[in-house]
Amino acid sequence: MNTFHYRDHALYGEDLPLQEIAAHYGTPCYVYSEAALRERYHSFSAALGDNTRVCYAVKANSNLGILRIFAEMGAGFDIVSGGELERVLRAGGDAGTIVFSGVGKSSVEIRAALGAGIFCLNVESAAELWRIADIAADMGKRAPVALRVNPDVDPGTHRYIATGLKESKFGIPMDQARHLYLQAAQHPALELKGIACHIGSQLLDLTPLGEAAGRVRALYDELAAHGIALQHLDLGGGVGIRYHDEIPPSPADYAWTLDQALQGVAVRRVVELGRALAGNAGVLLTKVEYLKDNGGKQFCVVDAAMNDLLRPALYGAWHDILPLHQSVGTGPAMDVVGPVCESGDFLARDRPLAAKAGDLLAVMSAGAYGFAMSSNYNSRPRPPEVLISGHQHRLIRRRETLADQLSLEENPPSRKSPL
Ligand SMILES: *Cc1c(COP(=O)(O)O)cnc(C)c1O
Repeated sequence: MNTFHYRDHALYGEDLPLQEIAAHYGTPCYVYSEAALRERYHSFSAALGDNTRVCYAVKANSNLGILRIFAEMGAGFDIVSGGELERVLRAGGDAGTIVFSGVGKSSVEIRAALGAGIFCLNVESAAELWRIADIAADMGKRAPVALRVNPDVDPGTHRYIATGLKESKFGIPMDQARHLYLQAAQHPALELKGIACHIGSQLLDLTPLGEAAGRVRALYDELAAHGIALQHLDLGGGVGIRYHDEIPPSPADYAWTLDQALQGVAVRRVVELGRALAGNAGVLLTKVEYLKDNGGKQFCVVDAAMNDLLRPALYGAWHDILPLHQSVGTGPAMDVVGPVCESGDFLARDRPLAAKAGDLLAVMSAGAYGFAMSSNYNSRPRPPEVLISGHQHRLIRRRETLADQLSLEENPPSRKSPL
């Protein structure tokens, strides 16, 4: 589907010229396409079939307006904090579809999750497992748990987003997990539901994912032989998308990989997809403030920065930059940079752009890990978020004001003695 496309040289999102959105809401501004979000969820859920629950990984984009769309479509949710739990519940998500991952769940978060009646806690250490058991016992409940195993496979992605290698902080090593399942099976406050695993993000080659699923399956078989009958296998997320010229796996490729690895295992499957559902459904609109020539090196200074979209600064990630008004021919190669006082503050490097001051640009593929990773660094108010659907647009988060930022701080009285 071609959600963002040119019509008569104007960049559109669905049936709306993005120029109109920029004029209405100002820049920088995040814009998401409802049709794109729906289409992606539908494609994955159709390819994976009825036996698989597709959970949306909330951390990719946790706006209530986005969560509501996934809730309406019947998605489950993968959360990593109590804050995300609250968001899903407020957006009308069903607690009984939530899986809770993360290495550092606090007692308060565990209690909230058990109180809400979530589907499963994906446990990342022995210490966490026993804490969950204690809290559940105290609440007079049985905690639904899966152990998140670390299959020790290299996902072939950026090292910051590889999570299934034995040196990463995530998951429990396979041999420890085996032992822990046998112990946990004896505990009256624990209900062993499944096995979970998530090896990393932006996976373009699914071979490591198939390998990890194979290891999860072997553990499942082994536990079954010990009389521990689990009810689901959670294979995590991480399916990659096209940012530049990558060839990402299709939903059908993904389904095939899981089918191959899990042949003959009849239990329900869970997947936790974030980027693959939201990444290409959003853009960040920005305006060119200045062009600058530092003696041979060209810069295009825009009004969005690393605090709005961190991925280029954090991972050296590529985002396509498209002018809202399609230009004829290209200009010189420029770095597209923001106003933040860091040399790492860039959105793109060495891009041929025929841009001039006042032009509007779209930073593409910004629907996942865009706004969600934004900050107020340099006291910059975070941009608004707008949801479009056909010819309609709707504000789903207003632009922050300086007052919003200052409202949490105390202004200490002056310590200067009066003259
Ligand atoms: C981040 C994360 C996901 C989602 O990853 P994507 O690459 O966005 O699909 C899924 N599961 C867990 C445990 C995660 O931490």
